[in-house]
Amino acid sequence: IRSLAAEIERNDLENLGMSAEKTKILVTGGAGYIGSHAVLALEAAGYPVVILDSLEYGHPELVAKHLQAELIKGETSDRALLDHLFQTHNIGAVMHFAAYIAVGESVQAPAAYYRNNVTGTLTLLEAMLAADVKQFVFSSTCAIYGPPKTVPIPEDHPKNPISPYASSKLMVEEIVKDFTQAYGLSAVVFRYFNAAGADPQGRLGEDHQPETHLIPLVLQAALGRRDNIAMFGTDYDTPDGTCIRDYIHVSDLASAHVLGVEYLAKGGDTTFINLGNGNGFSVREVIETARQVTGEPIVAVERDRRPGDPPRLIGSSEQARNILGWQPQYADLESIIAHAWQWHLHRHGRAA
Ligand code: UDP
Repeated sequence: IRSLAAEIERNDLENLGMSAEKTKILVTGGAGYIGSHAVLALEAAGYPVVILDSLEYGHPELVAKHLQAELIKGETSDRALLDHLFQTHNIGAVMHFAAYIAVGESVQAPAAYYRNNVTGTLTLLEAMLAADVKQFVFSSTCAIYGPPKTVPIPEDHPKNPISPYASSKLMVEEIVKDFTQAYGLSAVVFRYFNAAGADPQGRLGEDHQPETHLIPLVLQAALGRRDNIAMFGTDYDTPDGTCIRDYIHVSDLASAHVLGVEYLAKGGDTTFINLGNGNGFSVREVIETARQVTGEPIVAVERDRRPGDPPRLIGSSEQARNILGWQPQYADLESIIAHAWQWHLHRHGRAA
């Protein structure tokens, strides 16, 4: 009777145009780059959020300033902490961003990557299941495909990870498949292409230490914080000789995650979805667009190829559109770079 009453109340609220109370989402890594933008989007959609973040790389001051979420400092491998967290919060779904992400470092220190990214996730999943939380949104990567055989890359492309980082993500995908079959887990696994840009309102952005990604490094050169930008390889078999990547605006990534939670709440089955915007831009195009956006000259120097870089990585985003109804809002390179520039100017003390 009580559940019937709750159902009637929910229908009444919906009939009145008010949405029923939303389930609380646990976001691991919510103080990091992509995680914090996802929390922003979840909160804008009315979801209460609790963040679990080790703060090894995250930015608690940005969480405190721009997000409502409670921030808990801790590791995903801390089972006692997780059990307590699930007991004391009414969590309906988990969005799992917390991971080590540096490809080169993973080659030097694979143990740390497997421990954090695989064992940490396994502990988190076991704690979820023990608490009867079965909805999971996971950050995977296009790096699991390895050098592409077809471009744009579809989700059923063969998997050939060539770094411990990529292997660690593919291992979790396998765990998710097996847990779906054995324990009734429902997951949306997102395979990101090149996350870039920043909150269009300038509240959050990318701030990795050390920074290895192209767009923030180009903007550091524009700000005079570095002398030039190195172009790693100018003799690739691409129209201008530099590598092509699918840069996806972080706010578009974030909106897909909200749709992922809604898909699971409606009973959606475990699914694996690329998140790219389907457009490729070369290193030279990124630098040229940054010159236009910033009005700064930005010196580019030609360097040798970086080991392990495939010439072209572009994702097919058909599944995200078809399954989730996702539409990227900022698919153009100008918006991605302009928002990142606004963030960099603000972060480093120059007004936009
Ligand atoms: N890149 C570059 N100079 C840099 C950093 C990156 O030319 O200082 C190139 C890199 O070789 C790749 C592209 O920019 O072709 C994007 O690299 P990033 O590290 O941002 O992302 P990845 O595709 O490796 O995940």
